[in-house]
Formats: sequence, C-alpha cells, structure tokens
Amino acid sequence: MNEIERKDREYVLHSYARNYTNFIRGEGARLYDEAGKEYIDFASGIGVNSVGHAHPKLSEAICDQASKLIHVSNLQVIEPQARLAERIVTLSGYDMRCFFGNSGAEANEAALKIARKYGETHFESKRYKVITLKHSFHGRTITTVKATGQKEMHKPDFSPYPAGFDYVEDIDAVYEAIDDETVAVMIELVQGEGGVQPFERAEVQDLAKFLRSRELLLIVDEVQTGVYRTGEFLASQVYEIEPDVITLAKGLGGGVPIGVAMTRLKEIFAPGDHGSTFGGNYLSTRAGLTVLEILEAEWEAGALAERIEILKRTLDRTAEAMPELFTESVGLGLMRGLRAVDAEVQGRILTRAFEEGLILLKAGRNTVRFLPPLTITREEMDEGFKRFEKVLASL
Ligand code: PLP
Repeated sequence: MNEIERKDREYVLHSYARNYTNFIRGEGARLYDEAGKEYIDFASGIGVNSVGHAHPKLSEAICDQASKLIHVSNLQVIEPQARLAERIVTLSGYDMRCFFGNSGAEANEAALKIARKYGETHFESKRYKVITLKHSFHGRTITTVKATGQKEMHKPDFSPYPAGFDYVEDIDAVYEAIDDETVAVMIELVQGEGGVQPFERAEVQDLAKFLRSRELLLIVDEVQTGVYRTGEFLASQVYEIEPDVITLAKGLGGGVPIGVAMTRLKEIFAPGDHGSTFGGNYLSTRAGLTVLEILEAEWEAGALAERIEILKRTLDRTAEAMPELFTESVGLGLMRGLRAVDAEVQGRILTRAFEEGLILLKAGRNTVRFLPPLTITREEMDEGFKRFEKVLASL
C-alpha cells in the first residue's frame, strides 16, 4: 500500500468503493497515472469533464479568474454569474431564470423547493407531492435520495426521509398516480445511473402537454443529459418539450463544481427563500461561461454531431456482432451504453478495460456506459475503440 492509499484509508470516510490508481495528469481524453500508464477516458469523471482534461482555454480562464476574484458572496451582484445565466437561458430558448448551486443534488433541491412553493401558493389547497420514476437517480442528500425512485437507496439507516414522493414504473403509470396533492413530475429524459435509458419522444411530449393542461409542473433533471451531452444544449430541446423546471450540473463547469435550477416561474423565489454560500461564485461561473463557449463552437461546427454518429455506429455494430456479450446498444448523443447479457459480463468488461488503459462506467444492473468528453478527437476515439476490441476479444 503506498502513502496516498494509506492516508486515504486512514483519514477519508469510506463511502466509496475506491480504485486506488492515482491519476496525476490529463490531456484531452487521456489520463496518466503516477506510474506513467496512459488511459483513454470514456467516462469524463461521470459526465463532468465535458471539454476533456486540461483544456487550454478552460485552464487559462480559471487561472485568470483566480488571480482576480474567486468569491465575494451572493449579497453582491456577480458579473460572470449574470452573464452565465443569460447564456444558459439564451441557449435553451426558454423564457426562464436561473438559481446557482454547486452540484446536481443541490440543483434538484432547488427544483423541489420551487415545486413546493408553487404547490403552496398556486392552488386552492396545498399540493406538495412529486412523482418520480423507479429507475431514476436524483442525488444523495436526504431529500434527493428520497426523490430517487430506486427503493434500495432508501436505506433505513438514514430514515426518516422527507415525505412527499410517489414512485411509478414508467411514464404511462404517471397519470394514474396523480392525485389532488400532486404538484410535479420529475424525470430524466435519458436515465443515466438507471441504465442509459432514453424515453420515447411521443410519451414525454404527451406527458408535458398533460401536466401543463393541469397546471402541474414538469421538472426535467438534466444534471447528466444537459450541456450538449445528448447533442443539443439540452435534452429537453431534443425532445421538443417546454419543461417548467430544468436542472443542470455535471458538464457545465468542466470539473469546477456548479449546479443550476432554471425555471419559467420567474417570480417564484423572494429574497430569503433560498440561497447558497458558494453557489454561482466568480470561479465556477467563469468556468461555466468558458465551457459553453468551447462547446457551442463544437456544436456549430458539426463536430459534436460527427462524434455522436461515430460512437453510435461503433456501439450498434459491436452489439450486433457480439450477441453472446450484449443484448442491445442504448442511449442518446455521447451518453451511450451497451447492455451486457448479465452483471458478471459487465463487471469483467470494466475490469479488463481498466487494465487495458480504457476507463468505462457501469450503469444500472448490467450496462457498460460510455460518457466520453464532448471534445474527444477522432484519434482518441479510435484508440479507445481499439482497446475496447482487445478487451472483448480477451473475454
Ligand atoms: N441527477 C442526475 C440525473 C445524476 O446523474 C446525478 C449524479 O450522478 C445527480 C442528479 C446528482 O448529482 P451530484 O452528484 O452532483 O449531486
């Protein structure tokens, strides 16, 4: 056991099943560990490193901002926060306002507070219940873990949990679950942690229309799907829906913690209703602005669409050619998965890939997940696929 592993084991709480490889440097879609071994990163720190590692523009912007101002407080106006809010709203095409936090869970907490206040103030009698899906993932705080529909995550160790969540198997079942206390439905358009499972466009559009007709809210958790991950700035745009609340996090800061809840209920919060000490500070919002500048250019040039096509084609072909290992190729944009025949195959692939210098993720019970940086080059992709082929051939 080396020094870092010993310190980690001794002084860090054991809430993760850690791999003790010590990465010391990254460049683009490549990572290097302390022994000098090179890895192709098809995981992006679980969808966070949207512009890859050590992107020169992002590094420069962060250094420049750090040398001027990192933080003041939300009691003052914060120039890059105002600019980023404008950028996000403009790119979305929705008439909304933003609240800034530091993570996906915090963004979802803000979304839930928006729903609660709307339910308290908009109807004749109080509405507070939020319907979520059984394979969803919305975070790890005591409220967002309860919003997460996966029952096994509601461990009794941490009870009691906040009331006010109903769970349904799929979108079809939402309609029956709505009662006179329901205020909102919260969904991911592509369930990330749940198995990279996109919903049907028509069923999402129908749901959005139905909720709007009842004045109930549609909250779309775009913590993983947002910021160009599915090919457009938001997955909500791919689905051509108009949600009431959208949450963002992961890819927006390129690794600098940031979370956003944006809503068309522009007057929902009064001063004092919600807040965050760090949320939307100079550093994270300057990083967000720079990430958006980089990704917007990639999107406009058609480079993102090209990468999406290559990843999809490669994974579709792999699934077709190897039915003994995979049942299907799933996902949207650069958020894709290969459904393994079982959890054992999934586990073997992930372990062998890491040995070969390829970082992949798991999702759901048996999905091998691909979340490469959105700026990944053709050469980096080809090298990653070469290593993946080697892994599959060795199983
Ligand atoms: N929502 C979704 C869809 C996610 O994928 C995640 C994280 O994986 C979260 C929320 C929680 O985000 P965070 O870990 O930043 O709190």
